[in-house]
Amino acid sequence: MPLPRTRGKALRQRLAELRGPDVPAKALDARALAALAANPGCRRRAILDGAGVDKTALAGALGSPSAFGQSQFALTRGNAFEAKVKADGGAELLRLVHEKLDRRAEPPADAAVPDLSAIGPEGRTARTALALREATEAPGTWTLLDHPMLALDVAGSPAFLEPDAVVVHPDGSWTVVEIKSFPMLDGSADPAKVGAAARQAAVYVLALEEVAARLTQSGAPAPEVRHRVLLVCPKDFSNLPTASAVDVRKQRAVTGRQLARLTRIEDIADTLPEGTCFSPDLPAAELTAAVESVPATYAPECLSACELAFHCRARSREAGAVTTLGRSIRAELGGLTTTEDVLSAAHGESGDPEDPAVAALRRAAQLRAEALGLEVTPCP
Ligand code: SF4
Repeated sequence: MPLPRTRGKALRQRLAELRGPDVPAKALDARALAALAANPGCRRRAILDGAGVDKTALAGALGSPSAFGQSQFALTRGNAFEAKVKADGGAELLRLVHEKLDRRAEPPADAAVPDLSAIGPEGRTARTALALREATEAPGTWTLLDHPMLALDVAGSPAFLEPDAVVVHPDGSWTVVEIKSFPMLDGSADPAKVGAAARQAAVYVLALEEVAARLTQSGAPAPEVRHRVLLVCPKDFSNLPTASAVDVRKQRAVTGRQLARLTRIEDIADTLPEGTCFSPDLPAAELTAAVESVPATYAPECLSACELAFHCRARSREAGAVTTLGRSIRAELGGLTTTEDVLSAAHGESGDPEDPAVAALRRAAQLRAEALGLEVTPCP
């Protein structure tokens, strides 16, 4: 639910202070949102992303530069491939949508490609919504929205998202198109990369559903947002486009649930000390104190999803936190949260012997001692 205007203004002001004077906000993209939803309990990531902090610059200023993100070469290659797919008014892209998702419709010819330019993300979002409405109300034609702008409410703040394309079918339904530069070999691509693309597309589907709901509220016919998206990739080792329909129902449900659980950014901002600022221009010690003032929930999965992973891993290791060993081990250790607690419980120096985690640790320590021929301390 959107915030009342005055509260929204106060929050935006507070977030700008957190970012630092004259530091522009870094827009959240669907890739970041999908990763954010993968670690919904991390308050640190939630506030940094919510405030639009550039985490790559922040990680560098903290002395733990991230090894995360796309290389310049990959970005250039991806942009060139996308331009090829969308050439000639998106003829090839629309042909692929027709072939993979809507064979019963008339083949696309003379599709509309509306101009979506407007000032600022809010203006582009409104222009996109208008174009979607007009296309939906004119059935029987294909419409290609090239880089539309969508807004998704995330923990009380709008995140502006820019899918590669959205296609409106002749029956008025909407399809998300994702264009990636990783190859599809013999009709299939790297499952990890397809999974990441599906999670990203699911975020766009959620954002489109918000647009559809608003259109319906304003009296327009209810459009269908398709849950099968089109993934377009280079074919084999060429740069010819090929495509596959990907069902994102599961990713949509999981991401929607996790985004709804995200701790409200406003609540986190209220707990921070006055004057907290994450500007990368600050001295490292001051910046470290600011970052450490927000609790984090590090897990090894952060290494492939968050720019601050090296910083958080180092802090987590220093604290001896068992989360560095992985979420499943953390869950099995119950109330034992540090390596010190675990070793002490295993050696019978602390812990409740009735606790299944403590009992299992003592049994494991006993077996290890027996195997190594060490003096065995019987389990209590
Ligand atoms: S790396 Fe740190 S800030 Fe990022 S999600 Fe993990 S714990 Fe949170």
